Amino acid sequence: MRPIKIEVGVLARADGSCYMEMGNNKVIAAVYGPREVHPRHLQDVTRAIVRFRYNMASFSVEDRKRPGPDRRSHEVSKVSRDSLAPVILTSYFPRSVVDIFVEVLQADAGTRTVGINAASVALADAGIPMTSLISACAAGKAGGHIVLDPMKQEDNFGEADMPLAMTPNGEITLLQMDGDFTVDEFQEALELAKDGCQQVYEIQRKALTDRYSQMKEGDLCGDANPVEEAQAYE
Ligand code: ADP
Repeated sequence: MRPIKIEVGVLARADGSCYMEMGNNKVIAAVYGPREVHPRHLQDVTRAIVRFRYNMASFSVEDRKRPGPDRRSHEVSKVSRDSLAPVILTSYFPRSVVDIFVEVLQADAGTRTVGINAASVALADAGIPMTSLISACAAGKAGGHIVLDPMKQEDNFGEADMPLAMTPNGEITLLQMDGDFTVDEFQEALELAKDGCQQVYEIQRKALTDRYSQMKEGDLCGDANPVEEAQAYE
């Protein structure tokens, strides 16, 4: 597992946010909502809808990436949304939307798993009711070996890549696979990725408890004391 760094609540204007590094991957996740849905015809009278936008900065990869959405970013956005939506208690907020944005600042393979991890922490930071956090990690095959959390070279020149996301109870919400595994290799990679997700979960949990145990009363509604904020505007 590559080293992980998590910072919670890094964006003042988002309801919840998280900066996360996993090896050389660097991403920011921002959560807005529950808030009114626009366009309104997307409203669901029974629950909140969940939207997820994954975007790779053009400077995040070695050769400049063409800015804007493409097939890959649509796919990653969809699977990331589907990996998080099952734990969000959407029925608490009918007719509203929870918007999740993930910006990849630096990419080194496994950005969808880092994005999901950061988004899960940002959702918790936004106070969105969830049944649990979601933790993600990939396993792969490189040089004939089953490896945890493949980096760019292992991903590009390896034989297989399998991102996984799950709850701390082991309920899987994302399982994708690129390349080939034998049945035995698949089992080994699945166990390894599950173990990786558990390690990520402990780090996510610690980042959240550290952040909230350090906070003083009043900080939870924003970054500053409302009286000091009002004085600053005068
Ligand atoms: P993930 O980042 O989730 O592993 P992929 O397997 O599709 O998703 O991508 C693997 C890696 O390939 C990315 O993390 C990134 O480093 C690189 N990559 C992806 N898209 C591009 C691109 N358009 N240009 C250059 N490198 C890219």
